[in-house]
Amino acid sequence: MKFTTLKLVGFKSFVDPTELRIDPGLTGVIGPNGCGKSNLLEALRWVMGATSAKSLRGSGMEDVIFSGTDARPSRERAEVTLGIDNSDRTAPPRFNDHVSLDVIRRITRGAGSAYKVNGEDVRAKDVQLLFADAGTGANSPALVRQGQINELIAAKPENRRRVLEEAAGVSGLRARRHESELR
Ligand code: ATP
Ligand code: MG
Repeated sequence: MKFTTLKLVGFKSFVDPTELRIDPGLTGVIGPNGCGKSNLLEALRWVMGATSAKSLRGSGMEDVIFSGTDARPSRERAEVTLGIDNSDRTAPPRFNDHVSLDVIRRITRGAGSAYKVNGEDVRAKDVQLLFADAGTGANSPALVRQGQINELIAAKPENRRRVLEEAAGVSGLRARRHESELR
């Protein structure tokens, strides 16, 4: 599973439609302080199903919607689309007919989040499992926030275990077990 594009509309400082191509190899994002580099990483985490407003540096989930500036009014919705190359067929079986996947998450003020994969409505859980099975996701240790290393050193053992489970690729299994226990 390879990420190929990241599109943002109304997400944080990216009020106008913005498309980022993710080519094979290393991609660097450079720019002055406050230009939105960290917001791009947050968009990636968000479209993969992040549920913690804190990890997105906000106090509520709607804080990801463009909140306006002196010159521009705020927006009613934010949308992020992640393009995925699935030619290695690492997506779960229900999505594996597709060589490429477009995962969309949209949030509308007062109406919460909705997700689509290639135009089909799916649950947050489906999107989270899609990435967990591929060994990535909103909580992937590959996405390192500022201050996160210090948090890890000071973490409780069970939280540190989560990181190891992500790294070992078993967190999808844990989420499924939790879901079946709820039934
Ligand atoms: P640094 O180099 O300092 O780490 P950065 O390039 O990572 O900076 P970000 O933290 O991604 O910058 O962007 C911060 C900018 O995003 C701030 O100007 C902030 O006002 C803006 N911003 C964050 N959330 C919103 C929002 N909901 N609506 C509008 N602007 C927002
Ligand atoms: Mg930053």
